[in-house]
Amino acid sequence: MKKYLIIGSGFSGAVIAEQLSKNPENHITVVDDRNHIGGNCYTERDPETNVMVHKYGPHIFNTDNKEVWDYIQNFCEMVPFVNRVKSVYKGNVYSMPINLHTINQFFNKTMKPEEAKVFIESIAKKDIEEPQNFEEQAMKFIGEDLYKAFFYGYTKKQWGCEPTELPASILKRLPVRFNYNDNYYANPYQGIPRDGYTAIFEKMLDASNIEVKLNTKFDSSWDLSEYDHVFYSGPIDAFFDYKYGRLSYRTVYFEKSVTEGDYQGNPVINYADPEVPYTRVHEHKHFTPWEQHDKTAYFTEFSKETEENDIPYYPKRLKDDMEKLSLYEDEVKKMDKISFVGRLATYRYMDMHHVIGEALELIKKI
Ligand code: UDP
Repeated sequence: MKKYLIIGSGFSGAVIAEQLSKNPENHITVVDDRNHIGGNCYTERDPETNVMVHKYGPHIFNTDNKEVWDYIQNFCEMVPFVNRVKSVYKGNVYSMPINLHTINQFFNKTMKPEEAKVFIESIAKKDIEEPQNFEEQAMKFIGEDLYKAFFYGYTKKQWGCEPTELPASILKRLPVRFNYNDNYYANPYQGIPRDGYTAIFEKMLDASNIEVKLNTKFDSSWDLSEYDHVFYSGPIDAFFDYKYGRLSYRTVYFEKSVTEGDYQGNPVINYADPEVPYTRVHEHKHFTPWEQHDKTAYFTEFSKETEENDIPYYPKRLKDDMEKLSLYEDEVKKMDKISFVGRLATYRYMDMHHVIGEALELIKKI
């Protein structure tokens, strides 16, 4: 018999547990410090409205990885879903991500695709060759006006720092399009699980050789020597008792409201004005358009720096963080029989499909 310990029951931990459980000779213990499985993907029905709520913020599954797309559907029915986001700026509603509609609305024009390309090229800062940060990346692709309107204020609120301090890779998450395609994601496979995400985790972890222990917080006093292999998906700095200092994360929190009918007419509306204290409003019933609900619950999202007991969401990866991270990574390299997996343990801005893809690849190697 081989014994495995998995710390964290988000997608990294759950996929690894599920894959290992196929061998009846394996015994897998999954621990999680929360009182539920699924990490930040956890969903539950809101008791007031019966709407399926993504407790830690909406998760829209999207991937270009066919293997991941096929894999996830062993555990759920994915209902095709296209996320169409709006952004409010100075009293007007615009289409997001930036597409031909946004450009024409913003500049009050009726340009065709080729005209818009030429126009944007004329205002983009093309002299920036290799963008070194978020701001330079934005200026190079869309120019100052669109950047200042849709990205500068939102990004300052979301990340709590100047966009010049942030990596260019964050902006590269969003496409810029010269047609009217307003699909928020560019990936070919997109959907929402019909019964929510928690049901996926329940199915993944439902095996006689998987033992799940909730409300169990891992700390460095644990003896790991009895396990053949350990998979750690918690924050990398916490694993080492923050000995090189804390890595910075942004956290988000939500204010819930309930009303009758349809509150905002769309799943997500972003608020780009810096004076508006929140970043976006999520109305969760629009993520399950196949369900009928008379009432609606909507959640206003605020962003702040993490304090002691906050849930870490977004790794900031500022210069100082990256220096600390490399010290922690050097420690990791010296260890064997333990793998650091997923967003928190590798301190990267990863989507669900990245996490699942990497977990599947890791298991193939082990
Ligand atoms: N962003 C922005 N304005 C928007 C939407 C996004 O400035 O209306 C920036 C912001 O810095 C954000 C990043 O683009 O963190 C990536 O956006 P995405 O929607 O992928 O973020 P997530 O949904 O992961 O929070």
